[in-house]
Amino acid sequence: MAGITLNNIVKRYGDGFPAVNDVSIDIADGEFMILVGPSGCGKSTLLRMIVGLEDITTGDMLIGDRRVNDLAPRDRNLAMVFQNYALYPHLTVYENIAFPLRLAKMDNAEVDRRVREASSTLELDEHLDRKPGNLSGGQRQRVAMGRAIVREADAFLFDEPLSNLDAKLRGQMRTEIARLQKKLGITTVYVTHDQTEAMTLGDRVAVLKKGILQQLATPRELYENPGNLFVAGFIGSPPMNFLPAEVSGTKVKLPFGEVELPADKAARAEGKGLLIAGIRPEHFEDASLAEGKGEATRASTFTAPVEVVEWLGNETYAYIPFEAPPEVEQQLRQLEQELDGEALRTQLVVSLDGASRITEGSNAEIWMDASKLHLFDPATGENLT
Ligand code: ATP
Repeated sequence: MAGITLNNIVKRYGDGFPAVNDVSIDIADGEFMILVGPSGCGKSTLLRMIVGLEDITTGDMLIGDRRVNDLAPRDRNLAMVFQNYALYPHLTVYENIAFPLRLAKMDNAEVDRRVREASSTLELDEHLDRKPGNLSGGQRQRVAMGRAIVREADAFLFDEPLSNLDAKLRGQMRTEIARLQKKLGITTVYVTHDQTEAMTLGDRVAVLKKGILQQLATPRELYENPGNLFVAGFIGSPPMNFLPAEVSGTKVKLPFGEVELPADKAARAEGKGLLIAGIRPEHFEDASLAEGKGEATRASTFTAPVEVVEWLGNETYAYIPFEAPPEVEQQLRQLEQELDGEALRTQLVVSLDGASRITEGSNAEIWMDASKLHLFDPATGENLT
């Protein structure tokens, strides 16, 4: 096994805009790295360069400490696990797993040893004589991984392996992949456009937009401290709320009134004019239920007109419309496009406790955890806080 290093990788198709633009990522030995972003962000191109199916225009790629830019795919010792698992329906599980070893003309005793070891790790021993058609989705996934394991590859590469499955199976497969990767401890690079897969599978996640690396961090860091507006909008479901905001002193003016900010946050955004505030739906509460939720100085309450209420038992969603000035509106429209149609409406979505009794059409007292508020520069999208 080995880590994979990408140093200032650029990919140009023809003489157009670079599909991958100066991307540097250090993937540690045994790490589960996710490449995520909307369609066209360059994630598949990056994976294809790692596996060797696409030339690198400039930059260096290393597996361990070996530079592999000019190495043929078969000499890189990486195993690609394909969508739909690419199993042969007429071969048994045993022969499907053995396939790459047969291709390499390995002797039968060694093939047998490796297949049995892999099938034991993957808990497939009892199914070795079956055909893929008689297996569950999870078992097929394990056979596909078994084929990668027997090659004793340095890393696994996955390109959207779950995108054709229904939601339930996708959830199961995700858990299966996570479990196996931890058990095997093999370096893994996984491409997806699905932020839930990114958050649940990755040790770290590289978020890409238009070929440019936006942020490389743990899922928790991306969620709690998004580096810019794009990452903030991409990570999290339901998405972060974005509102026009202006900081003066230690207060931030939002469409529903003024809220006290933690002093360090306020200091970083003071005097910067009109900004975009970002805050997640769960960082609000029905004021009557908010007692003890945070220090008084770090929290605030405002009154807002509730248009729609959705009660889900354990939580209550309330929708509160607001007006945004044209500059903010324009920035949010652009962000909406970049996020691939993820709807960003000019309404605040708040998630309250299921015990809340707020009603549609009322003016509700809402508490906000101001310590969780982000402030973004509307021109650059940078998170100032
Ligand atoms: P998707 O999720 O839709 O596959 P992606 O994020 O994986 O998208 P890539 O497929 O890597 O993105 O494509 C990145 C950019 O490079 C896109 O603008 C795409 O049109 C362009 N591109 C990809 N492959 C080629 C090619 N063979 N020739 C020319 N341009 C290409």
